[in-house]
Amino acid sequence: MSTCRSCGAPIIWAVTTTGAKMPLDADPDPEGLFVLERGVAVHVIDAKGVDRYTSHFATCPDAASHRKAKPKGTPPSSPERS
Ligand SMILES: [Zn+2]
Repeated sequence: MSTCRSCGAPIIWAVTTTGAKMPLDADPDPEGLFVLERGVAVHVIDAKGVDRYTSHFATCPDAASHRKAKPKGTPPSSPERS
């Protein structure tokens, strides 16, 4: 078991079927979109009798930080002006 480095929630690290690492909420969610098969998070539409999990990206209150690789304090240059 691990914890999210952003919000501290308990998570399980899995990999997707494409090999990307993905955090799942440690608590199974009956509405979850993934099942774990030998550490691989398999997207499911309808699974019965197995624990289902939700991607922590979907529930983390600080999810944006997961995707940001850039350091803070550097405002993105935007061509858009209003
Ligand atoms: Zn989190």
